[in-house]
Amino acid sequence: MKRAQKSLQFRHLDAGSCNGCEQELNALTSRFYDIQQQGIDIVASPRHADSLVVTGPVTDTMLRPLGKVWEAVPGPKLLIALGDCAAGCGVFQAAYASHGGVAGSLKEPDVVIRGCPPTPQDILDQLLRITAAKDPGPKV
Ligand code: SF4
Repeated sequence: MKRAQKSLQFRHLDAGSCNGCEQELNALTSRFYDIQQQGIDIVASPRHADSLVVTGPVTDTMLRPLGKVWEAVPGPKLLIALGDCAAGCGVFQAAYASHGGVAGSLKEPDVVIRGCPPTPQDILDQLLRITAAKDPGPKV
């Protein structure tokens, strides 16, 4: 596996997920995937993050928190839609309380990781692509 040259510290926000995507995301911290060794970590505060990973279709309840958490991440920053729901095309697409993923509720994501749910390896591959391409950073 290719070793990351740059780090990625992301805050995860569950915006109405079924928790399937979280199960796969959490697997990345296991000894098998060991993302910390790849220079990637999940941080507790958006203030410590350089990117935001969103799961779920963005429900009514999570619409405002999503905006607030995104504002709290210092720039330059990346918005990552993880899973088909966050990408706006999942099984909850037509649900009455769904806002169409991050594109429908905040802005077009910088990175989309498709799947329902994506596998841990799919997620890790995309995150490693980001770290390899990160310098000089996205415009916000
Ligand atoms: S993409 Fe699939 S696994 Fe992920 S939150 Fe939506 S329904 Fe659940």
